[in-house]
Parts: sequence; C-alpha cells; structure tokens
Amino acid sequence: MRQPWRVAVVGGGIAGLAAAVRLRDRAPAGTEITVYEQSGALGGKLRTGELAGQPVEFGAESFLLRDPTGAESAAVALVRRLGLADRIVHPTVGQAALVIDGGLRPIPGGTLVGVPGDLDRVTTVARPAADADTDDGRPLVGPDADVSVGALVRSRFGDEVVERLVDPMLGGVYAGRADDLSLVTTMPALARTARVEHTLVGAVRAAQAAAPRAPGAPVFGTLVGGLSTLVEAAVTASGATVRRDAAVRELTPTDTGWRLTVGPTRAPEMIDVDAVVLAVPARPAARLLAGPAPATAAGVGELDYASVALVTLAVPQPRLPELSGFLVPSTEGLLIKAATFFTTKWGHLRRPDGLALVRASVGRYGEEAQLQRPDADLAATVHRELSAVLGEPLPAPVDGHVQRWGGALPQYTPGHADRLAAARTALRAEHPTLVLAGAGYDGVGIPVCVRSGETAADEIITALGGSAR
Ligand SMILES: Cc1cc2nc3c(=O)[nH]c(=O)nc-3n(C[C@H](O)[C@H](O)[C@H](O)COP(=O)(O)OP(=O)(O)OC[C@H]3O[C@@H](n4cnc5c(N)ncnc54)[C@H](O)[C@@H]3O)c2cc1C
Repeated sequence: MRQPWRVAVVGGGIAGLAAAVRLRDRAPAGTEITVYEQSGALGGKLRTGELAGQPVEFGAESFLLRDPTGAESAAVALVRRLGLADRIVHPTVGQAALVIDGGLRPIPGGTLVGVPGDLDRVTTVARPAADADTDDGRPLVGPDADVSVGALVRSRFGDEVVERLVDPMLGGVYAGRADDLSLVTTMPALARTARVEHTLVGAVRAAQAAAPRAPGAPVFGTLVGGLSTLVEAAVTASGATVRRDAAVRELTPTDTGWRLTVGPTRAPEMIDVDAVVLAVPARPAARLLAGPAPATAAGVGELDYASVALVTLAVPQPRLPELSGFLVPSTEGLLIKAATFFTTKWGHLRRPDGLALVRASVGRYGEEAQLQRPDADLAATVHRELSAVLGEPLPAPVDGHVQRWGGALPQYTPGHADRLAAARTALRAEHPTLVLAGAGYDGVGIPVCVRSGETAADEIITALGGSAR
C-alpha cells in the first residue's frame, strides 16, 4: 500500500467530520485526509446562525447524552475528545407539553418516545385501550421481524396513544408518522426487548431498565456558543484539508482505490485516493454508487425523506409558560408540528431584555405542499398559531428567520435495517475501501451519526491494511 494513505471524506456533515477525526486519531501518522463538501459551509444539519444578535441553532439543537444502553453517547465522547466538555449545558426547563384539543397539557413522564410503560400515567392526554396488551404466550415481535411503531402500539394500546403521544414525539424527530416508521431502526432498544417480552408494557419497562437513568438526570445537552463550535473543532482536530463548494459527482474504481470527479461539469477535477468515506444522504449516495456498485445503490436509494422548515421568531417580552416547548399531534390541524421556547429551555440563552426566541418546526412527511408558501406567510401562520395555543396574542416579532431543510429527514420503513445490511455486505465484498456513513443509513441524530462516521473510519483503516492505533 502506497504511503501516506490518501482518504477522501465525501460530505462535511457531522458523520463525515467524526470520520475525519477518527482517521486522524487511528490511521497511520501522515495520512492525507480531505473533506469534500458540496455547499459553502461544513456541518450539514448542524448550523448555528444569529438572530437578534445572539447565536441560535437553525438546524439540530442538542444531542442525547446517553446511548440506548445507558452508556455515554458518542456525541459526548466526541465533545470531550475535542476539548469542549466544559461548554456542555443542559436544559434549565425540561418539561414540555402536548397540544390537546387546542390547549397545553404536560407530556406525561415514564414513556419511551411516547410509548408508555405505565398506562395510568398517560391518561391526562390519551385513553389507552382497555386490556388489549395481553400475554399471548409469545414475544411481541418475531426474532427477525420488523414492524411499524404505529402498528405495534395501536394493536396493544389503541389509536389514541399513537395519535396523541407516539406520533407527535416520534414525529418531533423524524417529521414522519409512527405508522410508517420502523421499530428496529427508530426505537432499537424497544425492538430488542419486544423480541423477548410478551406485552408492550413489559417491553417498555425492560428497555427502560436496560438503560437506567438517575431521577432528574439530564437527557440532552448542547454547547454554549452553538453546535457549529463542534463542527469547527472537529475540522481543526482532524487536520483535514477542507474543500468547500466541491461536490463529488462521480466515483470510479481504479487499480489502487478511487478516482473522484469533483466540481462543476464544465471544469471537472479528477482526484485519486486510496479510500472513500461516503457520508452523504442516501439519495446522493445512490447516484454516486449507481456506476461502481449498482446493487448497493438500489438498496440505499429506496429511502424516502421528509422536508421541514424551522421558523424562529424573536419576540419582545412574551408571557410564555414555564415549558421547554410543545408538540402538536397531527389531528389538531395546525401547521406547527413542534415549538421550542429556546430562551426558557436553555438558561444560557436567556436575555436581560426579556426578548424571547421561539422556534417552530413546520412540515410533516407527505405534506410538502404546505412548505411551498413564502417565508413571510410561514412566519405569520406560526405567529398566529402560537398565539392560539398560548391562549393570548404573542407580541409582534422584532426579528425572524426561516430555515428550510428540504429532503432532510430519512423515513426508515420496516425492513430498513435488513435492506441496509444487505447493501453494506454487497459493498464490502466488492469495494472494501468505500464505506457508507451518516443519517442515510444508521439512524438520525448527532450521536448515531458520530458513531456511524467513526465506525466507517475504522473499517477504512482495516481495509487499507492498518490496525487501529
Ligand atoms: C431540522 C433538523 C433538526 C434536527 N435536530 C436534531 C437535534 O436537535 N438533535 C440531534 O441529535 N439530531 C437532530 N437532527 C438530526 C441530525 O442533525 C442529523 O441526523 C445529522 O446531523 C446528519 O448528519 P450527517 O453527517 O449524516 O448528514 P448531513 O448533515 O446531511 O451532512 C451531509 C453533507 O453532505 C453534503 N453532500 C451531499 N452530497 C454531496 C456531494 N455529492 N459531494 C460533497 N458533499 C455532499 C451535504 O451538503 C451535507 O453537508 C435534526 C435534523 C434536522 C433536519
């Protein structure tokens, strides 16, 4: 193998950057790492902007502190590795609400993404079906089976628990519907226990017991200064050469690795490397894989995506409830899917002048037409709906921002994990020096994507004949 190694990371989101840091830490010294990013900015769905003179997240807002086993999440480990641990802060107000019949009701505790482990605790928002969660003498889900979260919960707890709890909470993450989303990929801890337990209450409790949490321990964290500080620190630590505005348009296998076609069609640049971490969403990945790995391209290209828009308003001295925000079931007929009271939720964002930053997320899978409206229309609708939910007129905003995220959230349908495993097996057999990473494959969320990028880097090191340092 030629020395030093040349590794291309295609995609400058958090998965690609985590891969770059891991390569720097574990590949042989001197390895040449280059990150190719098609847009002008790194970070992908991590983007800290500014509103009313203050840093504010226009994309992802926070990260889970623990993984489904209860261990420290890969995001926290990366933050530590980058020397940013002293910037981690936790929500000052953790309680959120659900909009039920137009008004706010606290989200009941003790659920797993809305799936209750104690039916008595959720009756303030939904009436669980009586006696449907019976022990039929066998596990809820077969050993290799996958089902939609909605189908499983409907059959055991009835429709209202899905519509008023699970859908809004799962929809808060995926902008999709519980009836479409895979249990195995979107709720892996519950999928594991559902293969053993005979009731859904039992499966939820077993999943919770497998990852015990001290009462009151924070679940989420973010970074003072914004999540873009994580992006910048990762770039620095990786020592990678960064190529912005550099879309990779083609990947061609060579005798020794890969040839990348980069940049505009009228002036393409050809770059030879030994290995590639492909950390772009599934759709662009499928286009790049269509030539060298058609079976893998077909497997990953099936994934569909939801689009969302985030509307952030800076509102002078509103009277907001002591809540981190609220979620809206689709049955409520509102455009807003979720709202976050940034300046209530995060103590470090509170302002002496009382200006509040409120962010609403708009857009559910299958309702893309709603996002065709102009920014001003979206902002006005959000302002009107916020006033209605809060039960009093919200003061007129002094500033606002609309961030559109087209095709941003993967909709993993049942069977996704098996399709992905088959696609990866085919790729590994044919092209071990090309590895997939990121939200198109392993799940959404910063911790999952960090882990995915790191695993991809480890695979590349093995494929190039190295051993992790
Ligand atoms: C609105 C929103 C809010 C979210 N909030 C949270 C949250 O609070 N907490 C959380 O944990 N997760 C959150 N998520 C999910 C999380 O942000 C994502 O799962 C994660 O950031 C995805 O990282 P990634 O690196 O896999 O992909 P991306 O961030 O999509 O990065 C991929 C990069 O590849 C680039 N690219 C694409 N094609 C090419 C090409 N041909 N050549 C070169 N570059 C290319 C893209 O421009 C992009 O920069 C949120 C997601 C969205 C959309």
